[in-house]
Amino acid sequence: MPKTYTHTFNGPVFKGTSQLNTGLFINNQWVDAVEGGTLDVIDPATGKVITPVAAGSAKDVDIAVEAATKAYKTSWGLNMPGSERGRLLYKLADLMEKHSEEFAALEMLNVGKPYGPAKTFDLAQSIYTIRYYAGWADKIHGKTIETRDTKMAYTRHEPYGVVGAIVPWNFPLLMTVWKLGAGLCTGNTIILKPSELTPLSVLRLADLFVEAGFPPGVFNIVNGYGNTVGQAIAEHMKISKVAFTGSTLTGRRILKAASETNLKKVALELGGKSPTIIFDDADLEQTLKWASAGIFTNMGQSCVAASRIFVQEGIYDKFLQEFTKIAKTLTENTGSPFNPTTQHGPQISQTQFDRVMGFINSGKQEGAKVQIGGERHGTEGYFIKPTIFTDVTPQMSIMQDEIFGPVCSVVKFKTEEEVLSIANDVAYGLGANVFTENTAIAIKMAHGLEAGSIWVNCAQHTDMNVPFGGYKQSGMGRELGQYALDSYTQVKAVHINLGQRL
Ligand code: NAD
Repeated sequence: MPKTYTHTFNGPVFKGTSQLNTGLFINNQWVDAVEGGTLDVIDPATGKVITPVAAGSAKDVDIAVEAATKAYKTSWGLNMPGSERGRLLYKLADLMEKHSEEFAALEMLNVGKPYGPAKTFDLAQSIYTIRYYAGWADKIHGKTIETRDTKMAYTRHEPYGVVGAIVPWNFPLLMTVWKLGAGLCTGNTIILKPSELTPLSVLRLADLFVEAGFPPGVFNIVNGYGNTVGQAIAEHMKISKVAFTGSTLTGRRILKAASETNLKKVALELGGKSPTIIFDDADLEQTLKWASAGIFTNMGQSCVAASRIFVQEGIYDKFLQEFTKIAKTLTENTGSPFNPTTQHGPQISQTQFDRVMGFINSGKQEGAKVQIGGERHGTEGYFIKPTIFTDVTPQMSIMQDEIFGPVCSVVKFKTEEEVLSIANDVAYGLGANVFTENTAIAIKMAHGLEAGSIWVNCAQHTDMNVPFGGYKQSGMGRELGQYALDSYTQVKAVHINLGQRL
């Protein structure tokens, strides 16, 4: 019998108890893992265990696939009108909104996010996303096509069937609903594998699926480790598509597993090494705020974290001076996400802490100068001070590799050509930020930068109706917006003979 876990929140955001089912969620029911596995969920602010949750295996994935296949063939997919799928998604969004403070508190507890971003970004964007795709559910249609012969042809945009969704820990709910919104509105059923580090908010979400009235098997959660549950999803012969967000290394493994099994379709949202490029004429006050958000949001644990900040020589000194002050203020407001003044929380885990400290040490060893930070904060949990390097060279590891922590380099440049060339000289191409008051330069940079999203005079600013995805090794396919609908549907062409005889 699966266990429950009750967490009492004492504010400041949410006062009350959150009751979580800690089992696997299959067929609208909570079940234990077949082999009885569990894993501990850790509070990153303290390093202490919050609760154990069930950890599945390939056997649980098989059971979930059976449930999701049955739902697809009987109560969802082509068997439920789009308008009805939309109605259920709208209801889900309303329930998420009703419980948004509780969800924000769960993300704060499990990920260490300060309240502001948890509520105004993670939760708000998650709710918008579900509503946005609810609206698309009855607008998925093909085309009629004239042909040379006596016949008509038309296309249908049909769902794939059972989709596996594998998500990371940095935005546990948001990355999940990016996949649920587009995947469910188009008629697919879903098996979600949350990150083993951050299952709490999606466990709560599952209850809302039942309350909203979704048929059993439409949405299933098999929590567990990547090399067991994740791998089983990637290899499963009856899963038709995998939507993955995570590291480039894992993305390669998933693509390999798909290619060696049933050639399931694979969409990959992977890592990044985004640049922020600041020209002399930029509005400095605004640029400082956006550049700070561009790297330090979510403690640098964002796929579009702009860890390379290129500043034109005319404002370099002023920018660096003021930017250092911002990092200092963040450091002074580092701590528990439940402290109302906290602006900067912990890294997610000991592993990530060690990884980020490893990059900081490599920067120091390679000769870069620590302008501020460069060390842990406090004695418990996984806190790292916002860190700025200067005196870097383009080939240093901190300038080439994804750090996924609150660490950036500030680099002086002279010309547009020079900065474009260095900015593009990385394996990734997820996002890029440009700051200038000159429209011609902004557009030239926007077109020249090799990245899936360009932000002009802003940073990290995704919207549910604008496509998002990577160039180069940052991914394959697009999430969000109308573009994502193509990723969750396959096109069928129907030819109808109107009288041609042989
Ligand atoms: P990760 O690749 O380690 O894990 C992501 C998910 O994949 C987890 O659920 C994990 O359990 C699972 N997984 C691990 N090994 C697997 C395997 N062999 N088969 C199947 N699944 C497996 O990444 P992470 O550390 O959780 O997240 C950080 C990474 O995610 C960063 O590289 C970041 O840039 C990326 N990310 C990208 C985007 C984007 O939209 N492009 C958004 C957020 C995060």
